[in-house]
Amino acid sequence: MRQELLNMSLEELTEWAKGQGQPAFRSRQLFSWLHKGVPFSKMLNLPMAYRKELEETCSANPVSVLETVVSRLDGTVKLLYRLPDGNVIEGVLMRYSYGCTLCLSTQVGCRMGCLFCASTLDGCVRGLTAGEMLGQIVCANTLLATDGKGEHIGNIVLMGSGEPLDNYDEVTRFLRILREPEGLNIGMRSVSLSTCGLVPQMKRFADEGLPVTLSISLHAPNDEVRRQIMPIARRYAMSDVLAACRYYIEKTGRRVIIEYALIHGVNASPAQAAELARVLRGMQCHVNLIPLNSVPERGLHGVSEREVRSFKEALEKAGISVTRRREMGDDIEGACGQLRRRYIREAGPEEVTDHDGGGQIGHRTYPDTK
Ligand code: SAH
Repeated sequence: MRQELLNMSLEELTEWAKGQGQPAFRSRQLFSWLHKGVPFSKMLNLPMAYRKELEETCSANPVSVLETVVSRLDGTVKLLYRLPDGNVIEGVLMRYSYGCTLCLSTQVGCRMGCLFCASTLDGCVRGLTAGEMLGQIVCANTLLATDGKGEHIGNIVLMGSGEPLDNYDEVTRFLRILREPEGLNIGMRSVSLSTCGLVPQMKRFADEGLPVTLSISLHAPNDEVRRQIMPIARRYAMSDVLAACRYYIEKTGRRVIIEYALIHGVNASPAQAAELARVLRGMQCHVNLIPLNSVPERGLHGVSEREVRSFKEALEKAGISVTRRREMGDDIEGACGQLRRRYIREAGPEEVTDHDGGGQIGHRTYPDTK
């Protein structure tokens, strides 16, 4: 088993390198190269013999890109990655005027069972390590570097496959390494963490000293509707989820984002908009209305443009701050878990496992069928 270097904090790497007889400044150099995605052979300020030794015994990045799909509409890139054990995960790179945002997966699959989410259809295989989360960013930066526009990932959203708070220890370890000045140097203000509402972990996270933007997948104005689409709502009452949000706001001084995917015939009526406004009244929050990516397996469908508008207006009238999420990469299966599912269906898991991680990259652009 090769030593996974990206999975270590600077402190851990320093301790490890010390065991190999390397001074502390050496591990800082190594740490910085690893987070820049530079291969061992090109870590030019390390002695040649040490570079060779690292190359033979260690892994610089546990993640490799299997495939990229580029949207013709807005340049959004969907990435399919391979992990050392053959598992496959996915992510999305979005280009906004203010910079590049990467949507990361935190688990292989998910066990939360939300009815509308493709990530959860095959359950959860395992949580990702901190190194596998960092590795997705390193891969995306390497991809951006080939464009030669000087772009790099500045913002992170933990909104890919998986429930971040169900992989609590690795996600918090990831966030601490992410903000290391010698590494990726991405501050907590540039990170959003989305959760389906694991109440005890939300409270613990509020006390963690990692003040990211917290997004809550609420998707319903009351427990009855929420229980129809989100199994987790049977464990935690919405009032407790909202109380945990208030605690987070109090501890971090940051407003929370309420995510609400409008689902036809389930949660999108004007009366439900009014009810949502009532439960959110007085809370320092912002509602993000998400057009549903329909999941045909479950027979759930989005709503019309007119319904989105009237839902939004009802919230605005009640004084709730609300925007409609911009749709990115609408032509490339942007929704959680869709690309991974198609890949597993088409390639079969055997082929994925047999892959030797040689970094084979298939570039594909969808035909203009839309
Ligand atoms: N497990 C976390 C983060 C992953 S999902 C969570 O539940 O928040 C990121 C966001 O995408 C969540 O708000 C999720 O509810 C939403 N989502 C999942 N499937 C969707 C779909 N088919 N259409 C629209 N949004 C979806």
